[in-house]
Amino acid sequence: MTDTPKYKLASRQWKSEKTIIDVKGCKIGGNDLFLIAGPCAVESEDQIDQVASYISNLGIKFLRGGAFKPRTSPYSFQGLHKEGLELLKQVSQQYNLGIITEVMDLSLLDEVYPYTDIIQIGSRNMKNYHFLKEIGKTDKPVLLKRGMDATMEEWLLAAEYILLGGNEQVILCERGIRTFDTSNRNTLDIAGIALAQQLSHLPVISDPSQATGNRSLIKPASLASIAAGADGLMIEVHNDPKEALSDGPQSLYLEQLKEMLPAFEKVAQAVNKSCSWQKEHETVNV
Ligand code: PEP
Ligand code: MN
Repeated sequence: MTDTPKYKLASRQWKSEKTIIDVKGCKIGGNDLFLIAGPCAVESEDQIDQVASYISNLGIKFLRGGAFKPRTSPYSFQGLHKEGLELLKQVSQQYNLGIITEVMDLSLLDEVYPYTDIIQIGSRNMKNYHFLKEIGKTDKPVLLKRGMDATMEEWLLAAEYILLGGNEQVILCERGIRTFDTSNRNTLDIAGIALAQQLSHLPVISDPSQATGNRSLIKPASLASIAAGADGLMIEVHNDPKEALSDGPQSLYLEQLKEMLPAFEKVAQAVNKSCSWQKEHETVNV
């Protein structure tokens, strides 16, 4: 017999069928593999326009991009703030893309809220419980990154805080945890993706970019995530990664993203998932 978990609303015991979150026509947690791509941070009009136009041509429906960035060093680029949000809005309208961007602090919620379709809660905030409670009162889907030092139980209890507030639209995002081995930026918990699917009804996606810190590992980490049952992927991509103001080494070149999509589809098919973005891309390109 399995023990009753400490989290309740997030558990499969509470709700056995999977939660499907419908946002801008995408059904996250459904049969279709959900893809989010974009730069770590919004840097300029030219940068975000190039990335947004490219990914929308690939059939990808969601653009990521930080306007407020949680950087380890206060001397690193902190984001364009309001200007970044305005640029996200501009390209989302132009290319009909959904937006996901991070709300880094409760004091920024009102400012960011109107600009985003999915609220990203960063790894560093996964244990900010007062913040999670307040996010639970919002009515937009929330992408909850796993804390870099969080156990599976702590991660699901963090989701519980949001669910308890009344917001049932929580997407879990595995983004690697810190282990003794520093050869990767973090250690992507592949079995943790499968376990989260067993323990919770919430959609689970994978962020291979923060997990590996290395663009040469994005494809294998993505394929492994899909094979483990991830409902989607969030991948960093940049028009000029060498000049990126944040997370350049882990950001894909635009063409690299395009080249790996057919392999995503093959592995997705092996686990009975569809890739509607791929079909639309083919239709656009015939
Ligand atoms: C990011 O997605 O760019 C990011 C900062 O993520 P995390 O909170 O997982 O470090
Ligand atoms: Mn990043």
